[in-house]
Amino acid sequence: MQTDTHDTERTLRDALSATGQRYTEQRAAVFRYLRSTESHPTADEVFFHVRQEIPGISLATVYKSLETLVGARLATKLTYGDGSARYDGRTDDHHHLRCLGCERVIDLPGQVDDREVARLEASADGFQVTGCRLELTGYCADCSPSPASRV
Ligand SMILES: [Zn+2]
Ligand SMILES: [Zn+2]
Repeated sequence: MQTDTHDTERTLRDALSATGQRYTEQRAAVFRYLRSTESHPTADEVFFHVRQEIPGISLATVYKSLETLVGARLATKLTYGDGSARYDGRTDDHHHLRCLGCERVIDLPGQVDDREVARLEASADGFQVTGCRLELTGYCADCSPSPASRV
């Protein structure tokens, strides 16, 4: 996904000022990296990449920048039961595949049928549904535990 640098910077400046946050080079570098990848990186992975652009940046600053971006709705945080988190440069409703082998998170191009969402909402006693995010777990093509069983 190639995004125009100028548009990315403007998007970031506008969203940060709307939430009363300052534009900083560190936040910009973290945002650019998130927008450039579909890998749903952990904070450590973001740190690894952004450090190549800004050698002096600390992991703590990367963490804070990621949380600032999430707060400004410029990124999504995916949290898991073991306390780990991944970050997604996409904020639109979309679904994920999560590999239980390599822990990779992959965007799922398919959509959930609106009628199915409505059916679930109807079962949710007064809860007003505004979005839908689905995670399918299993094994990616590289990690399938028993390829023979798929034949
Ligand atoms: Zn895998
Ligand atoms: Zn995603």
